[in-house]
Parts: sequence; C-alpha cells; structure tokens
Amino acid sequence: MIETTTFDVARCSDCAADVVAAWDLIGDEMQRVCPHCETVLADESSFRALTGSSLRRLGYAIEGEGPKASSCSSGGCGSCSRA
Ligand SMILES: [Zn+2]
Repeated sequence: MIETTTFDVARCSDCAADVVAAWDLIGDEMQRVCPHCETVLADESSFRALTGSSLRRLGYAIEGEGPKASSCSSGGCGSCSRA
C-alpha cells in the first residue's frame, strides 16, 4: 500500500511529546497549535511530515484504522470481538 497522506507533526514542549499540529486562529493569524494543550508550535525546525503508519508509532490511531480494524477482520478471535 502506498501512503500518500501525510500529517504535520511537531514537538510540543508543554506536552513533551510529538503531536499532530492543528490549525487555530490566534489573533488574526492562523497558527499551528498543539491539539492537546493549544500551545503555539512555533519551532519550525521541529516540523516534519509523517505518514499514517509513522503516526501510529507515536501512539496515534488514524480514523478508520483504529484497533478495531486490526489484523483480525472476522471479529472472532476473542480479543477484538468484545470491543
Ligand atoms: Zn501540547
């Protein structure tokens, strides 16, 4: 599978974590902020574009690709059928 969708990820100093940047209107300017604590992500050098699979390594679940859509598609393995 070829991944073409990327997400802007940056370091949030407040969360001490890599977060997917969100856009927010600060004053009259759109700025990239942390979706968790709304700190403005001003450190341009920490920005990078990651694909969905890279994001999962950071602990993010991509919509539609969460745990319920994991390896067992039948739902009969016992661990995912009781979700
Ligand atoms: Zn944060």
